[in-house]
Amino acid sequence: METVNTLAMLAGAASACRRCERVRPGSAVMGPGNGRPGARWLFVGEAPGRKGAGRTGIPFSGDESGRRFELLLDAAGLLRDEVFITNAVLCLPLDGSGRNRKPSGGELRACTALLAATLDLVGPATVVALGATALSALDAIEPHGLRLRDAVGRRVAWRGRLLAPLYHPSRQAELHRPWEHQLADWRALTRE
Ligand code: SF4
Repeated sequence: METVNTLAMLAGAASACRRCERVRPGSAVMGPGNGRPGARWLFVGEAPGRKGAGRTGIPFSGDESGRRFELLLDAAGLLRDEVFITNAVLCLPLDGSGRNRKPSGGELRACTALLAATLDLVGPATVVALGATALSALDAIEPHGLRLRDAVGRRVAWRGRLLAPLYHPSRQAELHRPWEHQLADWRALTRE
């Protein structure tokens, strides 16, 4: 992929991309609503959701995961203006009935170059992986060998910056990490 020097170039490349056949064409969520290059914090989720970013064009907004993300961001003492938010897969993955589905391995691999370009463009001090899918997508850019359940809450050196694995803000993640623990993880994220 060509070097991407501006957010507009990145958004254009994502919008024009048709590498994946089973996502909604042209639905890539990438642009000013994701944040600004130069943000110190880069959050990586899984994929846009049908009722959330797939509708609003802004990551983690408009649905329950977005509402929970806002609560967790607030617990960390961060504002949207201070962070950049993206996803491991930029386009909306839907099943045959039009419902959200997990992105496939092929889709994750196809979107790796755009995720790497986002990292290079934003240049954050800390990359926060929200969930196992995001952690796996980052491992494809440069292996870190981390597993979410072992590494949650840690900050490790990775690719010249820090990598912090946390659970995804969706309600389902509470099966693995109770909400109070997640709030504590996010509060610790910004503690020096
Ligand atoms: S998910 Fe990523 S690789 Fe696939 S079509 Fe969308 S932008 Fe391209």
